Amino acid sequence: MRKRPPLTVSSNTEFAKLITHSSQAVIFTGAGISTESGIPDFRSPGGVWSKMKPIQFQDFIADPKIRHESWRRKFDRLDGLANALPNSGHFAVAKLVNNKKVSHVITQNVDNLHQKSGVPNNQVIELHGNATYAKCLDCGQVYELSLLEFAFRKYGEVPDCEHCDGMLKTATISFGQSMPEWEMLLAEQATIDCDLFIVIGSSLLVYPAAGFPLQAKQQGAKLVILNREPTEMDCYADLVIHDEIGSVLSKSILKSGTVCN
Ligand code: ZN
Repeated sequence: MRKRPPLTVSSNTEFAKLITHSSQAVIFTGAGISTESGIPDFRSPGGVWSKMKPIQFQDFIADPKIRHESWRRKFDRLDGLANALPNSGHFAVAKLVNNKKVSHVITQNVDNLHQKSGVPNNQVIELHGNATYAKCLDCGQVYELSLLEFAFRKYGEVPDCEHCDGMLKTATISFGQSMPEWEMLLAEQATIDCDLFIVIGSSLLVYPAAGFPLQAKQQGAKLVILNREPTEMDCYADLVIHDEIGSVLSKSILKSGTVCN
């Protein structure tokens, strides 16, 4: 793997140039952008899942006790999402979307912070779903968590779907659950269509999501990786920045002249 030079001031300038010259960029985000909002990185060593075993989708379906445990964790706010707010990184991303530099934000995060920071719903592609609401596994009806929590506290369980009696679950893609087909298609299309693919805060370890940066490169797009730690894909990138996400993004966007209308 090629060695990268240490971060210099010119990295921001180079990043800004790539943004300026792009006519359709795609941003791909992982846990790293949200750790700056205080949300724990579940997968990292020392993260929540190294202390608390994740619940497999099949076990959630098959075992009422495990289902109860899953809801208890959710309603005891163990995922750290309850009061999380977007940070300067999210707002910088939203700026790029709203100035039509970026067509889509593909995210591995389930925290809803891209939408909260002002990215329109139809431009966020959530590969792992969304943990801020629940859905019926059969008919897809959406449910507010506050209502389900009320029932859980009162009756000790979450009710079934009022429309079809299907099982309710937070709208996330759990371990053992297949990737969402529609979102995967959308993400692939956006990747094929872009001329600049920007990875932010993802270690790019989880497939199939981690395949997108390579696909973008193969289609002739430029690749930027902004992550605190080195990633497996650094050697393929046109620009690699290992630094704090929020400050780098804000500075690079300012330099690119992409300011909010
Ligand atoms: Zn239903």
